[in-house]
Amino acid sequence: MVVAWHRPTKAVIDLTAIKKNIKIEKNLLGPNQQIFAVVKANAYGHGAIQVAYAARQAGVTGFCVAVIDEGLQLRQAGINEPILILGINSPVTVPVMAANQLAVAVDSLEFLRQAAKYLQIGQRLSVHLALDTGMSRIGFKKQADLQAAVAFLRNNPDKFDFAGIFSHFATADAKSDDYYQVQLANFKRLVSVVDPLPRYVHVANSAASLWHRECGGNLVRLGISMYGLNPSGKELQLPQKFFPALSLISELVSVRQLKAGESVGYGKTYTATENEWIGTVPLGYADGWPRRLQGAQVLIAGQKCEIIGRICMDQFMVRLPRQLPVGTKVTMIGKDQQNEITIQEVAEYAKTIHYEILCGFSDRVARVYLN
Ligand SMILES: *Cc1c(COP(=O)(O)O)cnc(C)c1O
Repeated sequence: MVVAWHRPTKAVIDLTAIKKNIKIEKNLLGPNQQIFAVVKANAYGHGAIQVAYAARQAGVTGFCVAVIDEGLQLRQAGINEPILILGINSPVTVPVMAANQLAVAVDSLEFLRQAAKYLQIGQRLSVHLALDTGMSRIGFKKQADLQAAVAFLRNNPDKFDFAGIFSHFATADAKSDDYYQVQLANFKRLVSVVDPLPRYVHVANSAASLWHRECGGNLVRLGISMYGLNPSGKELQLPQKFFPALSLISELVSVRQLKAGESVGYGKTYTATENEWIGTVPLGYADGWPRRLQGAQVLIAGQKCEIIGRICMDQFMVRLPRQLPVGTKVTMIGKDQQNEITIQEVAEYAKTIHYEILCGFSDRVARVYLN
């Protein structure tokens, strides 16, 4: 992996925004509810280690990641709080998870049986049982299977720490709450056979914690709203203002004047109709700036300017309001004077969701941090 420190394109991450968002979330929660910060996928592109440090300062008590290696990265950075791996893993990986105190989502008795064999002497694996209440992704669906897994955990307390039970909502960010209610009922039905409950019971992602505060549990897995974004995109209003943490900036590296009839970029998809000034920005689809953004806008000198021609692998071209010097700041995401381009607008233009834009920024986009 190469980080392109020597070019002006930067993702600027405001860690104070992340801390503010966590404080806002904490104020929405009950006194017995904790927050685990979801820092999978390099903290949604914001940088897992830096975000984890900031989140810890703001009072989160644990972390969620998707894969083992993300958990190891946090451990190596000195994060000693509980870490839950949200994905399913092979029993072969049990020794490394146990050795690093990484708790893992489990959805089969067979995994536990195998895990018991793979555990080395003195090792203990922390387990959160996943329940499939309607997402159809991972989890136990039947009370009997869940009961068997719980019994196995409780019969092997030297090998397993039964730490949690959880589920995930498919539509917590939607206007209609019909399916949410179905899932909640399924959760209650499944959990009713587990007595006593483990210390963590959790169903809420950002959306459920914002719009379904009655969903219960004593832990919120806080992802997208920690980064300051509305989980629903535009479908639902946020009950509180959150602060987007990421902006994406660069500079014009080349400026030229086109004569009427001259064209721009691969496939010459844009042709100047009059004499006009254009600039080149060092950001392209290899950086996670989607090719679909041809025709979208960026901010230069406080004004919205159109991306013209096809976005290249490493660069794109933009129509300027007038001749501007090389080195002029370009804002792809964020504010410039009175204007703002949100990541939601970028995502809509690219026909996707802000989550995907955030996760798509490659290592080549240097992250710089504001504290
Ligand atoms: C990614 C993820 C989350 C975080 O979701 P947000 O919408 O970003 O809050 C929570 N729980 C699970 C199981 C996840 O996979």
